[in-house]
Formats: sequence, structure tokens, C-alpha cells
Amino acid sequence: MDNNLDRRGFVTKVSAFGVASAFAGAAIAQEDAGFVLPKLPYAFDALEPHIDARTVEIHYDKHHRTYVSNLNKLLAGNKELMKMEIHQLVGNISKVPETIRQGVINNAGGNVNHILYWDVMGPKGGGSPTGAIAKAIDQAFESFDKFKEKVNQAGLTRFGSGWSWLVVDSTKKLQVISTPNQDSPLMNGHTPILGIDVWEHAYYLKYQNKRADYLAAWWNLVNWKAVSDRFGAAISKS
Ligand code: MN
Repeated sequence: MDNNLDRRGFVTKVSAFGVASAFAGAAIAQEDAGFVLPKLPYAFDALEPHIDARTVEIHYDKHHRTYVSNLNKLLAGNKELMKMEIHQLVGNISKVPETIRQGVINNAGGNVNHILYWDVMGPKGGGSPTGAIAKAIDQAFESFDKFKEKVNQAGLTRFGSGWSWLVVDSTKKLQVISTPNQDSPLMNGHTPILGIDVWEHAYYLKYQNKRADYLAAWWNLVNWKAVSDRFGAAISKS
């Protein structure tokens, strides 16, 4: 009985706070330890068949981990920057000395972008959004289908490596944008709430050169609860 209660209590707690907040909390920089790689919120094979387990493993355990360790190397000895929260660091990139700024854009951007990417996907994802985010999408893009087309188009037309994003801009309006490399929308005052990694490392093992197929499949993974939570936080931010 006690075990069942404990188990239920645990499950309730997880669903109440959501993966998003636990995950974001883990990303907070600690002055001594430096920036840490947040735990992946699901197993490597949880996104199958849309993203294969090997791709998730390499992407998380090699690519994402490397951004975090490179960031710590770049900021070594800089206590002020090292103790910032990752979103603050990227959002205040002009505070970073010019000699290391591009490296910080690549690696802090790489870190914060991937935190969002893992967070807005999930094993039971897909479908359509509901509530305030659904209304805002319809208002901004006419319909959910047109919105998806726009995000896919932004990802497809991004030459080379980069990202397709849904962001809340500084006037609290939704926009679909794309960024090159690991540039973060936070650098332009936007708050990203959904993001698709279109670097080849995100899809090449399963989809080879077919980025369009990866983008089409990606919508089966989107965690609308996480996107909706991020939307709510962004529009209520002063
Ligand atoms: Mn990536």
C-alpha cells in the first residue's frame, strides 16, 4: 500500500511540474561545477521510429555533451559568466569578451538550443495543440497546417546547418524564424518555444539527405504540453 502511495505520489509530482521545469532546473549553471549536461528526459529509443535510438544517443551524448564541455573550457576562470544561467548568458551575449564571443555563441547556443529541442519532443507526442497556444497559432498563421508548412519551409530553406523556430517576439507575437549554426533566437530578444534542429547530425543516419522527410516525421514527436508551458511563460514575462 505504502509503495503504491509512494509510487502514485511520485508520478503525480512528475506530471504536476512537468519534464520542462525539471529539465530547465538541471541546466542552471553552478559556479563550481560549471554548466552541466541536463539529463535526457527519456530513453535513447523513446523517439523511435521517427528518430532512431542511435541518432538520439550520438546527438545527446556526443554533440550536446561537447557543447557543454567546450563552453566550460571557454569560460574557465570567468566567474561572472560561469555563474549565469544559460538563458541569461545567451541573451546577454554582448557581455562576453570579444575574444571568446563566437565560441560562446556556438557552445552556449548549442547547449540552450538542445535543451529546448529535447524538451519539446517526447515519446507520446504529435497531434494538434489546444488552448491558448492553439489560438495564438491560428491568429498568427491562419491555421495549424499553414503554421506547420511555415516551420518546415524555414527548416528546408536554411542553407547548411541551423534551426527552425517558433518564437515569441518582444511584442509577444508569434513568429516562425530560422537561425544558422547554433545561433539562438535569445540573441535577438526572441523567446523560442519550439525548435527543430536541422543540422545533418539530427537526421542523417535514418533520413540521409532527406531533410524534408525528417521534418515531416518530426511533428509526430512534438510535446505540445512543453511548448504550451513555454508559451505561457513567455507571454507572462514582463
Ligand atoms: Mn544538434
